[in-house]
Amino acid sequence: MIVMKFGGTSVMDATAIERTAQIVKGRLPRHPVVVVSAMSGVTDALLKAGKAAGEGQREQALEQARSLRQRHHATAKELVGSAQIVDLLAEVDREFDTLDELLKGIVAVGELSPRSSDYVVSYGERLNSRIITEAYKARGIRSVLVDARKVIITDSQHGKAIPQADEIEHRAKNLVRPLLDDGQVPILGGFIGATEHGVQTTIGRGGSDYSAALIGSGLDAEAIEIWTDVDGMMTTDPRICPDARRIRVISFEEAAELAYFGAKVLHPATVLPAVQKNIPVLVLNSLNPSNEGTLIVGRAPKSKSTFKAIAAKRRITIVDVVAARMLGAHGFLKAIFDVFDKHQCSIDVVSTSEVSVSLTVDSNEAIPAIAADLEKIADVKYAGRNAIICLVGENIRETPQIAAQVFAALGEINVRMISQGASEINITFVIGEDDVLEAMRRLHKAFFTEVDPEAFD
Ligand code: ASP
Ligand code: MG
Repeated sequence: MIVMKFGGTSVMDATAIERTAQIVKGRLPRHPVVVVSAMSGVTDALLKAGKAAGEGQREQALEQARSLRQRHHATAKELVGSAQIVDLLAEVDREFDTLDELLKGIVAVGELSPRSSDYVVSYGERLNSRIITEAYKARGIRSVLVDARKVIITDSQHGKAIPQADEIEHRAKNLVRPLLDDGQVPILGGFIGATEHGVQTTIGRGGSDYSAALIGSGLDAEAIEIWTDVDGMMTTDPRICPDARRIRVISFEEAAELAYFGAKVLHPATVLPAVQKNIPVLVLNSLNPSNEGTLIVGRAPKSKSTFKAIAAKRRITIVDVVAARMLGAHGFLKAIFDVFDKHQCSIDVVSTSEVSVSLTVDSNEAIPAIAADLEKIADVKYAGRNAIICLVGENIRETPQIAAQVFAALGEINVRMISQGASEINITFVIGEDDVLEAMRRLHKAFFTEVDPEAFD
């Protein structure tokens, strides 16, 4: 069996859902389980509605719900024929009636608890999975709705509940497997779950990928397909380098390094359950289904190219801390990190010498206060408008003089900080923001003009 997960833009309206029906049809011999997101924008709208209700803005909250009701009505009507539509619309209306009651209840209480918020936001996936099940049936697929809240069992940390993998595996085998064995196509909403006592939860924004990985891992899927609206992961941002290439195969670790840079079509942590079981994860494009996409695997096959991708992150501040008394002393780094900790500021790149430490953080308003605290123990300078550039690839480990090649490609561009991660699968350095475009172009030209055709398109 395989798991096919369709993200919000792949199921954003009737045309998109129709497209996914054809994609699923093409994979029936592989026994798919389908996991779907809410239509794009719906989760945000529900969160807004809940927030408005919590602030006592009754009309705004109900208006949001009204417009969502219309959108789901319209989509259902476009997808489902006259024989079934009456029942489907009645069901959609029943759901929206309960949503309205819920929002009024939140207004009455005057507070949106995390528990109620999860309840409100669950409507997106619940409604869309219902509509999609019916739409697939109307297209000759033997689809059957499975309530995700009976399968994805979590703890009770609302908003970002932690899935209980063993229990999920147990439930998937009992509730989903028999449907597959009977030749049906189970459809589940992603993102939502419930505690073992049946209290609704959600597993974090973008969580449908996670749902898909959990189900795939519970059922030992042959593959997990994450359907999005791009051709997979790219060697770099195509808006910066138009000759960016599609990465055919990437290891989980490499994908995880890139995720931090926003080069994410999915958050790799969410597919970890699958990767740990050696289940291949494919990122595919529902707008271009014949494209092979990107394969994410635990161990990528040996590639002849050194790097898999280059990523950049702007709006970085470098903080330099200098103290002669650091010489031979201990506890100094701890004192510095404690200051950042106190301000709940996370540090990305660090490089130290005997008497100085340079760190980078995302530019933010807390920096002057952090600097003031650091001043108590050392001399401090900080400068914004920097960028982190990161080259990622497992071959870095085995390529001698790779740093020399990178800095040669950069030419006269001034590098302000260097760090080669302990994982040895990335080379990271910091440059001025104004140099980012030029640096990315030079590096891409140097390292991706000729590439291993097995690894790149
Ligand atoms: N609908 C949820 C969100 O927007 C989950 C997902 O799409 O993965 O975060
Ligand atoms: Mg997503």
